Amino acid sequence: MSNKINRLRGMYDVLPSETWIWQRIEEVIQEVFDSYNFQEIRFPLLEETRLFYTAIGEATDVVEREMFSFNSRSGTSLTLRPEGTAGCVRAVIQNGLCNRGLAQKLWYQGPMFRYERPQKGRNRQFTQVGAEIFNIDNAQADAELILMSARLWKKIGLPNIRLEINSLGTTSARIVYRKVLIDYFKKHLTVLDEDAKRRLETNPLRILDSKNPGMQEVIKNAPLLTDFLDDESIRHFSQLKEILDECGINYSVNPKLVRGLDYYSKTVFEWITTDLGAQGTICGGGRYDSLVELQGGKPTPAVGFAMGIDRIVELIKDLKLWSQPNSVDAVLIADKTVNPRFINGLSEKIRNCLPKLNLVVNLNPSSFKAQFKKADKLSAKFAIIVGENEINANIITLKSLTDKEFGQKELHFDGFLKIMSQYK
Ligand code: ATP
Ligand code: MG
Repeated sequence: MSNKINRLRGMYDVLPSETWIWQRIEEVIQEVFDSYNFQEIRFPLLEETRLFYTAIGEATDVVEREMFSFNSRSGTSLTLRPEGTAGCVRAVIQNGLCNRGLAQKLWYQGPMFRYERPQKGRNRQFTQVGAEIFNIDNAQADAELILMSARLWKKIGLPNIRLEINSLGTTSARIVYRKVLIDYFKKHLTVLDEDAKRRLETNPLRILDSKNPGMQEVIKNAPLLTDFLDDESIRHFSQLKEILDECGINYSVNPKLVRGLDYYSKTVFEWITTDLGAQGTICGGGRYDSLVELQGGKPTPAVGFAMGIDRIVELIKDLKLWSQPNSVDAVLIADKTVNPRFINGLSEKIRNCLPKLNLVVNLNPSSFKAQFKKADKLSAKFAIIVGENEINANIITLKSLTDKEFGQKELHFDGFLKIMSQYK
């Protein structure tokens, strides 16, 4: 029997050949979110299971079958967070961040866990970045989130991405529509699959979201929520569309867009790419004006989105949108006879003076030839060469590996610093 232990299904390791993509996405996100003055919040990966039951709703894919739950030693049911909004709202309430009507613009990032069937773009541990605006009830907040995500796509360079929007109306409008929808689907019971039949009483709107080909006809002819919207929701939705038009954001209104989670009202939206196959939604969001109260806080209007970073990384890789930056500035190449003490001493001295320099020190000295080969492989810009001659004369030989004109220079430490500081 082998002692080898493999990672769990649906989980993955991000290897050094790809971490730079993740790091750069994180940088770009931080830059864009900063420019809209969103502040980062960090909350636990583990919460009480009942938080997600309350927030996400019991008749949803996530709560019904996708949660990683287990009992704590004291018997309390705990769950690895399947999404961020529930925990974010819990943290906002518990820390009084929205007391006295204070507006808050928050963002978060990190791993989420869902027990799903693993496939391309669908993992059991995946990374989401989310943004939420609390205590602003107007469509400007919804628009700002959409504009901020659009700016992010532009900065990343994502092509072929489209925006779908819809309004789910206020809770009261949805109660009326729900009844109409239940009556309609009851007339077509024979066509409904098991999932849909179960959802008929608990969450009939989700039936509209079904991908079952056998149900598409009956879904297509279902009454539209748009026809049951109240005046307030219609006004809110028009204002959102006006802002998007003004800012040159293309969108299509998809009256069947309902989103997977229970807590939405009024605006919902999704950003979808055609470049990822079935798992094309890279960002989804909407308004959730009743959630804070549902979770025990004061009534607080709110709107937010979550984007799937795994899918964005896939896109960047598949479409070769970015190329890996050449990060090694210099390689210290020392002759085998040079005392290791001297090599580490010199490299630390260089790092003290040039803290931004990416300097590779060969910890396993080999021949000059092999070391130069390695420096080439790393696409290093400079070789810092130290042999017996250099040590005796108290100099460093600096050789450019990219610029023939620069060639090779013998320098005292000060002269060396002067040149290198032009690069870093
Ligand atoms: P889907 O319809 O693809 O299952 P969802 O409605 O369950 O998505 P949300 O809960 O809205 O997804 O999460 C927001 C985003 O997080 C999704 O648009 C997607 O990009 C990403 N996401 C969701 N589940 C996964 C997963 N299992 N693996 C990777 N990314 C995911
Ligand atoms: Mg899902």
